[in-house]
Amino acid sequence: MCPHAPAPFDPDPPPAAPRPAPPPTRRHATPAAPKELQLSRLARHLGRALLRRCPNCGARGIFELWLVMREECPRCHLRFDRGEDDYFIGSFTINLVVAELIVCIAALVGILATWPDVPWMGLKWALIALIIPVPALFYPFAKTLWLAVDLTFRPVRFQDLAGHGENTTDGKKASHPPPLPDSLAPPPQR
Ligand SMILES: [Zn+2]
Repeated sequence: MCPHAPAPFDPDPPPAAPRPAPPPTRRHATPAAPKELQLSRLARHLGRALLRRCPNCGARGIFELWLVMREECPRCHLRFDRGEDDYFIGSFTINLVVAELIVCIAALVGILATWPDVPWMGLKWALIALIIPVPALFYPFAKTLWLAVDLTFRPVRFQDLAGHGENTTDGKKASHPPPLPDSLAPPPQR
C-alpha cells in the first residue's frame, strides 16, 4: 500500500470522549434561602416593626420623639436610611394608604351602627377630626414597617452600618467600629 494514500473512509468513527463536568460555581455551592426562611424572617421583622423596635435586632428606643426617628440603631448601628436620601418615600405611601383605610373603615362602621338614621353632619365632622391625627399616629409604624420589608428582601450590608464603610451618620469614621449584627455574623463552624 502506498504510504501517501488517503486513509480509508470509516463510516463509524469512534465516539468522542465525554466532556469533563464544569467545576461547581459559587452559585451552585450556596443554594438560595428557602421560602419558609424568607417568610419567618419577614414575620420577625414585621413583629418588631409593629412594636416600634429596630426590625433588624429588636432594640427599643429607635425614636427620639414620636415622629422623629434616630439616624441609627443604638444596638446594631444600622443606619435607618441605608445611605439613601429618599429612602423613606415608600413609607409615606404606606402611611397615606393605611390612614385613608382607617378613616374609610370608621365611616363604614359609623354608618352601619346608626343605620337608617345616620347623623351625616356629625359623622362628617368626626371623620375630619380623625383624618388629622391618624397619619401622625401611624407615621412611626409606617417607617419601621417599610424598613422591615426592605430588610427582608435586602439584608443588611456592610455599608449600612454606622462606623463601617465610607459614610457615617456624623460624617466621620468611628474609631472603634460597632460589632456586626446577627444577620452579618459569620455562619457557625461545623
Ligand atoms: Zn438594631
